[in-house]
Amino acid sequence: MTAPILATARERVLSDGVGLGEAQLLEVLTLADDDVPDLLALAHDVRLRWCGPEVEVEGIVSVKTGGCPEDCHFCSQSGLFQSPVRGAWLDVPSLVKAAVETAATGASEFCIVAAVRGPDDRLMSQLREGVAAIKAAVDINVAASLGMLTQLQVDELAAIGVHRYNHNLETARSYFPQVVTTHTWEERWDTLTMVRDAGMEVCCGGIVGMGESLAQRAEFAGQLAELEPDEVPLNFLNPRPGTPFGDLPVMDGKDALRTVAAFRLALPRTILRYAGGREVTLGDLGTRAGMLGGINAVIVGNYLTTLGRDPQEDLDLLASLSMPVKELSKSL
Ligand code: SF4
Repeated sequence: MTAPILATARERVLSDGVGLGEAQLLEVLTLADDDVPDLLALAHDVRLRWCGPEVEVEGIVSVKTGGCPEDCHFCSQSGLFQSPVRGAWLDVPSLVKAAVETAATGASEFCIVAAVRGPDDRLMSQLREGVAAIKAAVDINVAASLGMLTQLQVDELAAIGVHRYNHNLETARSYFPQVVTTHTWEERWDTLTMVRDAGMEVCCGGIVGMGESLAQRAEFAGQLAELEPDEVPLNFLNPRPGTPFGDLPVMDGKDALRTVAAFRLALPRTILRYAGGREVTLGDLGTRAGMLGGINAVIVGNYLTTLGRDPQEDLDLLASLSMPVKELSKSL
């Protein structure tokens, strides 16, 4: 017999395009293992109905790695923990090279990331130069992820043609103080609001499997839905040695798939992207199941601090699932 929440979701999300609320998402996250195949099939139908069959491919590059003053407990780029990531800067020619290589995979998105609380003048000028050089060299959408912004910085990024800005809320508001103590969830929310008001696309997601309860996972999905981001990158904790969360267990694969589907049922129209941690959490079979359970975007290449897969493996996976890669012209 079909679980009642699946019948509800079929009508509300699949037919009407309205995301589930927090209480309903909790029901989804607590579905029995036997119901997971039906749940994934429904989430896949929702994705096809409201987003279409295309998959958005994105490459990311780190312009400034490590040595961040913040204390996000999952992050090996914090300078406050004994984690092995060293501080490093990338110059403009290297940024352009990475953008050209990303475009060659067929990706439509290239995101420049920096491990900082927020950008200083040096980083902003690097961005200005880098974005101009990339735009002169290759046809690709440029996104950025530089931490918390001031209004002036938001305006400048919009003016130089950054079309999407990533800033993750990371987790539910109620759990955030257990994850970060050097800034607040509300500070992150403020940056996201400014970004949206400036006309840039909003990319905002987080990490699951950090010790949050299922109710908090549902809360987080509901809070993301309230923000209405254009894209949600979904990471699964990959516990990094030397970080406060380094000893947490890897999330159970079925829980990860329930989470993928729940996020799709909360956000029927968003770009839901597999980001970090999927290899250790889901393996190849689980990754495939998630692509058929609501995911419609992937990151190719590295995940900043841990090696992702060879881009060709992901492109082969999409081909084997007969999922077309979204082209640049369609995403402008
Ligand atoms: S997640 Fe970002 S802000 Fe937090 S420590 Fe890592 S690089 Fe710094």
